[in-house]
Amino acid sequence: MILEGQPVAEKVLAGVRAGVDALRARAGVAPTLAVVLIGDFAPSKVYVANKKRAADSVGIASRDFVHPEGLGQKDLVELLRSLNEDRAIHAILLQLPLPAGLDEDEAIDAIAPDKDADGLHPTNLGHLLAGTPTVLPCTPAGCLEILDHYGAELKGAEAVIVGRSRLVGKPLAQLLLARHATVTMCHTRTRDLAEHTRRADILCVAAGRPCVIGGDMVKPGAWVIDVGINRLDSGKLVGDVDFGSVSPRVHAITPVPGGVGRMTVAMLMKNTLAAAERQLVGSNG
Ligand code: NAP
Repeated sequence: MILEGQPVAEKVLAGVRAGVDALRARAGVAPTLAVVLIGDFAPSKVYVANKKRAADSVGIASRDFVHPEGLGQKDLVELLRSLNEDRAIHAILLQLPLPAGLDEDEAIDAIAPDKDADGLHPTNLGHLLAGTPTVLPCTPAGCLEILDHYGAELKGAEAVIVGRSRLVGKPLAQLLLARHATVTMCHTRTRDLAEHTRRADILCVAAGRPCVIGGDMVKPGAWVIDVGINRLDSGKLVGDVDFGSVSPRVHAITPVPGGVGRMTVAMLMKNTLAAAERQLVGSNG
């Protein structure tokens, strides 16, 4: 089974559209997302364009804050703080990675947790760890939506995650744990990667390396979520999983492109709507 992201994303976006309409009818407010893009990294420009298109399609307003490479850390933090204060902005998307020389951790810390569209602020990640989730990180939440939509059984499953980033691997582990999977996390110091991945009922790969998982590294019948997006020299986009050798052996696998990436954008819209709803409740009682 190919786990297409499109129908799942459309379902999420339809819910967001309905929520946006309801909010507009109730409070006369359009949820507004500030999109902060620093520098000239081509993939970031593509991601930002996709996110703005999705926002448009569900009635979320987006406002651009685009700066050339060379913006200083202090100015970036000041920009983020001013967006925190701006009552017309409900959520802030800081497109990562930042250009070299800028401190991502400090920048994310500067975003108000309530306006953190990506769910990456330490307060929101801490809530996830504590079992009191607030804003969920978009990509891991999108992986869960795909697994749920297509009917994967998570309770008691052996879930193996390749990659331990703040953006994907670590929060995904928490989400799977919360759903009662038995979670193993692998990384570059893992001694025998294949030994772990071959045990996985649910294998999630976010390593950022093409073909890190081959057909001999998966359990027959597994569900495979390929988070990776890598552009080969030929220009072709591929994931971290060797689709050709893995797909015949497993029960289900996400395609790249067309899998998790679509979900990341949809979950960002969901987080933006939720941020606007929270802030309106906060200001109006
Ligand atoms: P990252 O910060 O570079 O983290 C990569 C992780 O993978 C690290 O924990 C690293 O281990 C581990 N790793 C790398 N090579 C490995 C190997 N050969 N064996 C085992 N572990 C290995 O990357 P990220 O931000 O999590 O992103 C991962 C991938 O997902 C990238 O391709 C990115 O473009 C993609 N992505 C896609 C979406 C989407 O919407 N589809 C969203 C976000 C990211 P160490 O910790 O030991 O270094």
